[in-house]
Amino acid sequence: MYVTVHRGTHQIGGNLIEIGTDQTRLLFDAGASLPPLDGPKTENPFELEGLTYGRPAFDWVFLSHHHNDHCGLLRKLLPGIPVFAGKETKRILDVIADFTGQPRPEIGFGFRDGQSIQLDDVRVTPIGVEHSAKDAYMFLIQADGKNVLYTGDFRTSGKAISTVRELLGEGQELDLLITEGTNIRSGKKERAGEFQGEEWVKRRAAGRMRRYQGTVFVLCSSANEDRIQAISAAAAWAGRTVCEDLFQSAVRNRVDGNAQWFVASGVKKDSRAWPYFEELYQQRALVGAETLAKLPEKKVIFVRTSMLPFMARYMDARPPEEEKSPLLLYSMWQGYRQTAAVKQLLDFCEKRGIIVEDLHTSGHAGRDTVKALIDGLCPTALLPIHCEAEDREAFLSLHSNCMMLNDGQRWEVG
Ligand SMILES: [Zn+2]
Repeated sequence: MYVTVHRGTHQIGGNLIEIGTDQTRLLFDAGASLPPLDGPKTENPFELEGLTYGRPAFDWVFLSHHHNDHCGLLRKLLPGIPVFAGKETKRILDVIADFTGQPRPEIGFGFRDGQSIQLDDVRVTPIGVEHSAKDAYMFLIQADGKNVLYTGDFRTSGKAISTVRELLGEGQELDLLITEGTNIRSGKKERAGEFQGEEWVKRRAAGRMRRYQGTVFVLCSSANEDRIQAISAAAAWAGRTVCEDLFQSAVRNRVDGNAQWFVASGVKKDSRAWPYFEELYQQRALVGAETLAKLPEKKVIFVRTSMLPFMARYMDARPPEEEKSPLLLYSMWQGYRQTAAVKQLLDFCEKRGIIVEDLHTSGHAGRDTVKALIDGLCPTALLPIHCEAEDREAFLSLHSNCMMLNDGQRWEVG
């Protein structure tokens, strides 16, 4: 068995990891590079013969989760290469495509947590993990008597350690661990709240919701289900009504139905987002900004940067007795503050007297958790990926056989 990281040894995101044997070529993740934070989005230049041009040479592609830096190159894959993903990942990518008017990605096969898939001489087992995306997985890849674990993105390690040990059984060892290291640098763990988990977010959010009397806006990703549930639970504790917009409701599939009001947006009848709109419209659960502003109950409203016009209309329509200080909980990575869209939203908050408070915890493991995964699995070799180029050295002290491969370099396992 061999491994070639086509991209990801010197950067966070844009993962493309080939693992194969003499007979079979698999690709794990087809990620786009994260765009520069404060610049125009540029077209991704990545090309690979047999994957994006020429005759298809890959047998299967597996996606670890729906984040763009792990699946953003899906549309560039040659037709005819079958793609596997979690069932929810496929559904969420379809919803995003429907709302953005893009073609739905071709994902032909869904897998389940812990269900092994035998593909010729390679066996792949997806292992569900906690991350800031719903339906995220690690993969155990077994062939030629060798065992490789690719972590994808993850936040906690306990379940992965016990599952991999169980799958390997007595007397077998993990030959290679390919792990992400977004937060591997030691200093990163010191920032307050960074690795506290969603329970911490829930308690802190409830405190803020009780202390402030006005509307609480929450700026977070519509696909960070754990975060949305933590904030919604806090709202219930604080006696507040949860409101989300149509897109967030569609991404979440309204699974737990904790939102009581859904913000309407202009959806055209001939668009693919119309069926999502129609369902809520029939249930009379949709409201516009003005109506929502006049409802007497205390609210928690999930927003995204694209909802700035909604926020402006909402603030304008608030009745005079509602002139208590509103709050925006900033519940995303701090780096996004450098983007033009977030800057614009924060400027708006400043102008309109909306207090902004940070409330976030990382979706990626801290250094201690990565170390716990390495110590718990005792792999023969370690291959760090998905970390800042200058942070790679931070892995060296965690394993005596830490391989510093470059993008495109092939390595035989064992
Ligand atoms: Zn991710």
